[in-house]
Amino acid sequence: MKNLLFSCLLALMAVGLHAQNHKSGKTGRPNPYYSRTDTKKLKVPNSEWKKILPPDLYAVAREKDTEAAFTGKYYKSDTKGTYYCAACGNKLFRSDAKFASSCGWPSFYEPARQGSVSYQDDRSYGMRRTEVLCGRCDSHLGHIFDDGPAPSGKRFCMNSISLDFEPDKAKK
Ligand code: FE
Repeated sequence: MKNLLFSCLLALMAVGLHAQNHKSGKTGRPNPYYSRTDTKKLKVPNSEWKKILPPDLYAVAREKDTEAAFTGKYYKSDTKGTYYCAACGNKLFRSDAKFASSCGWPSFYEPARQGSVSYQDDRSYGMRRTEVLCGRCDSHLGHIFDDGPAPSGKRFCMNSISLDFEPDKAKK
C-alpha cells in the first residue's frame, strides 16, 4: 500500500513538473503568463516581470537593453521552426521569414501574423528608430528597418534573448 501511494505521489510530481516546464518556456523559471495559445493582451508591471524573468532577459525585454552583436543564440541559425516571445510565449516569427543578415542579430522580413508585434517610435541615443514590441506583453524585441529583402523590404532586427525557438517536428 505504501509503495502504491509513493508511486502515485511520484507520478503526480512528474505531471506537475511537466506542466510547470510548459509554462516556463525556455527560461526554466515558473511563469504564469507564458502561453503559446492565449493571445489576450497582458498588462503585467515590471515589478512582477522582475520576479519571473532571468536578469539578462529582463534587461532586454523590460528595460530595452540590446545584446551585443554576434553573441546571441539565433543570429546564425537556419533551423526550421517557430520563434515565440521568451517572456510570454506569444508567436512572433516563422523561420521561413528569417534571412541571413550581416548585422549580428536574428533578422526577419515579416512577423508570424498580424498582431504578433506592435511598434513604437524610439528617439533614444540621438537616433530615430521604430521599436518592435511583443504584441501580447509589450516586451522589447528589437527594431525594424527599411533595408530588408523582398517581399516586404523590412528588416525586423531582433534580440535572440527575447526569442524562444521551437524547431518543427520532423515529418514521418
Ligand atoms: Fe510577449
